[in-house]
Parts: sequence; structure tokens; C-alpha cells
Amino acid sequence: MIYSPATIDKRSWLSLDEHPFIRPDRRFFTYNQYIQWRFGHRIHRVTIDAGFTCPNRDGTIASGGCTYCNNDGFSPASQLFRAKVYLKPSVPVQNQIDSQLPFLKKRFHTDRFLAYFQSYSNTYAPVNELESLYQEALSHPDIMGLAIGTRPDCVDDDKLSLLENIAQKHYVGIEYGCESIYDRTLQWVNRAHDYRCFVDTVNSTAGRNIDISAHIILGFPTETREEMIAMADALSDLPIDFIKIHNLHIVEKTALASTYHSDPFHIFEKDEYIQLAADFVERLSPRIGIQRLYGDTPKDMLIAPKWLTNGNEMAKWIQEELERRDSYHGSKCLAQPRVLSL
Ligand code: SF4
Repeated sequence: MIYSPATIDKRSWLSLDEHPFIRPDRRFFTYNQYIQWRFGHRIHRVTIDAGFTCPNRDGTIASGGCTYCNNDGFSPASQLFRAKVYLKPSVPVQNQIDSQLPFLKKRFHTDRFLAYFQSYSNTYAPVNELESLYQEALSHPDIMGLAIGTRPDCVDDDKLSLLENIAQKHYVGIEYGCESIYDRTLQWVNRAHDYRCFVDTVNSTAGRNIDISAHIILGFPTETREEMIAMADALSDLPIDFIKIHNLHIVEKTALASTYHSDPFHIFEKDEYIQLAADFVERLSPRIGIQRLYGDTPKDMLIAPKWLTNGNEMAKWIQEELERRDSYHGSKCLAQPRVLSL
């Protein structure tokens, strides 16, 4: 079957036979494929640090933050720009964008970007302040839209209405930290919200022309391997569009690092993680695109595991594992079909 934007302008593909992006040479559906299709060309993200904090750190709902959180470890690319002093809340948003574009254009061969509000909780401010920051980014001629990372308890109807309005003219994607569907795990890592909060927020966001992404972590010692894989079943039943999957890793200067030093627990070896991630991808609805399969952390900040790779290499290993099994993203999906309109 030949696919064109006209045949796939509704995201209704559910059967593997009809899936436009899952093929023998690409056994899972990726966010990059979707973006390339939606915009007709490559789009990269330019990271912005707008000076947001987090209610799980400043004492509003809890203090200390999630036990694994060290925002400096989230993105090596952000580290690079942070080291060059471009990525600072004191630098205006447009200047942060301009200072990174020459490097990003050359490296990623594109001149179109999404403004990625990444650090901490990027909806944690009054709605008028959010509007001003988002509009400043969108007024840059090379910015096509917004990608916003936040906590599920940091949005409300007014903020979602703001994003819904912006989405009438621009691409808007929002990334919610879920991390686990098990409340005992969320308590263990001091997330300070429960899974119900994540589900309610996803449902409140759906239907507003906003792409919804969920972040999860595989490898918490509070969960069995089968419980980790079962998260794919639960998330497949929700109206999320994309998923970022991270392997649990221990980053320096975190509470989790102290716990790990005082009472070490198992962290997946490379081959164990590849097997687990492949099992997870097989159970995940093929409607949900994959943004990440591995959490990049700078080598000098990583305590465990000892093995290190990058997102592209991990994607290649999981592709090879799916080929070896002759299986695909969603080939063992248990979820009921769901049709979402763009
Ligand atoms: S919600 Fe995000 S920014 Fe806040 S402590 Fe947790 S991981 Fe860090």
C-alpha cells in the first residue's frame, strides 16, 4: 500500500499491516518519522532554559525533588550549551535560540526548530507569564512550534486552554513525567504525585490538538520485570501520542545515588535492558510513537550502570533484537484499538 499524507491525516493506523511507519527495516514507529511526515522535513529541537523551578523542589508540594533528578544530567546537548553560557534564564529566550542555531543547523542539516522548554517544570508559572515566554519563542522566524516538558500536576484548564489556542497556529507537544504506573514506585522516588494524577492530566489534555508524550523509567527495584512490561499495556490504553523510555541510571549528586551507595540494588546490564525494552515495545500500541529508548547522561556524571551508549545506538540494538525475533512494535499489544484525530 502506498501512503500519502492524505491517507494518514488521521492517526487511525492500528493494524501492523496498515501501519505507515513500521516496516522490516524500521520495526518501531518513531517520533522523528512522525515529525518528518507532519512537516515534510526534518525538525530539530532547540533547548531553552526559561528559569522555571519545580514544585517538588521548592517546597510547594514537597522538597528535595525526585530522588533521581539532577537536571544537569538530562541532556548532554544542553550541557554543551550551558557550558558556553548560552542556556541561562538570564539570557532572553530569543538570544538563547540564536546562540545555538548556527551549531544545530550545521549538525542536523535543518533550519526549522521546535523551542524545547526542557529544564524543570515548564508550565510552573502564572498563565500570563507562560504566554509571554512561549510567544517570545514562537516569534523567532526559525521556530515552528513548542515542545514543553512538565509535571502532570503543573497544568490546569487555563494553561491547557492557552496551549490549545497556540496549537491553532503552531505545533504544540507536551511531555508529562509519568515515570511509573505504580504508586509505590512514585513514593519511593518522591515524585509527589500519583499515577491517577498523570491519567487525569492526560485525559484533560486530549482532544486539544496537542501532542501528548509520557516519560517513563524502566528498572526501578520496586517493580518486577513483568510489572515494567505491563506499563506498556496501561499506557496503550491512554490517549498519549508518544513515549520517552529511559533506563534507570544513577546520576551523581542525587538522593538516589546516596541510596544506591548505602544499599546497592540491581541496575540492568546492557543486554538485559535491550531484552526488556524490546519486550516493552512489542506490547506498546503501534499508535504510540517512540521518542526515546535510552536516557543519555554525561559520562562524568554517571554512577551506574557502567555501560554507556547513545540513543541512536540503543535504537539500532533494539531494532536488531526485534529483527532477530521477527517481531514488531505492537506485535503483542493487548490494548483495545483507539482512534485519535490530529
Ligand atoms: S519533577 Fe522533574 S524537575 Fe522536578 S524534581 Fe522531579 S525530575 Fe526534577
